[in-house]
Amino acid sequence: MDTDRKTIQAICLFCGSSPGMDPAFKLAATQLGTTLAHNNIRLIYGGGHVGLMGVAADACLSAGGEVVGVIPRKLMEKEVGHAGLTQMHVVETMHERKALMTRLCDGFIALPGGYGTLDELFEALTWQQLAYHLLPVGILNVSGFFDHLVKFLDHARDERLLRDAHRNSLIVDTDLQKLIARMQSFVPPNNEKWLDRASKESIV
Ligand code: AMP
Repeated sequence: MDTDRKTIQAICLFCGSSPGMDPAFKLAATQLGTTLAHNNIRLIYGGGHVGLMGVAADACLSAGGEVVGVIPRKLMEKEVGHAGLTQMHVVETMHERKALMTRLCDGFIALPGGYGTLDELFEALTWQQLAYHLLPVGILNVSGFFDHLVKFLDHARDERLLRDAHRNSLIVDTDLQKLIARMQSFVPPNNEKWLDRASKESIV
């Protein structure tokens, strides 16, 4: 088990490229950006200036935080890339983007979003399940947005398609501070001694 865990210094955010209907989503994105800045936690994200991603990035920057974007060239050329970030990595593919975001962070948080957010969330969970990384994966359940998804995962577990340990490794909370605290004390479900945090560069 990975007992020598460092504190979380960078969080990768997955969230909607749209703002969504409920004003609570934007508020949560703002709170997340501000909270990371105040706790000296770097924000790693998809690099866009649109939707909830743009809101979180702007809030983090305004509060004096560091924000690192990882964006595929195609999206950058469509001019949705954020021009004011601390650092922007331009990559060729969506796969490279997810791999680099994983290398740059110490944990993942998902806010409300659509296919892009869900794809990123489930890839992070799948890689954790296979011990490609041992990082915590959390959902901030704003206004019950993820209630149905969480129920579905329980259903998958009940149908024996998802192991208990892997179902339980997903951290779900409605409170951001509690979510981050739970992520800090996360114990990975896999006990693969040869796959530790120090070696993730060579794996992902
Ligand atoms: P979605 O949830 O479908 O709105 O997709 C949002 C997620 O997909 C974000 O976390 C991004 O990593 C990625 N993404 C989707 N659209 C964009 C965009 N226009 N610019 C940058 N990243 C995007």
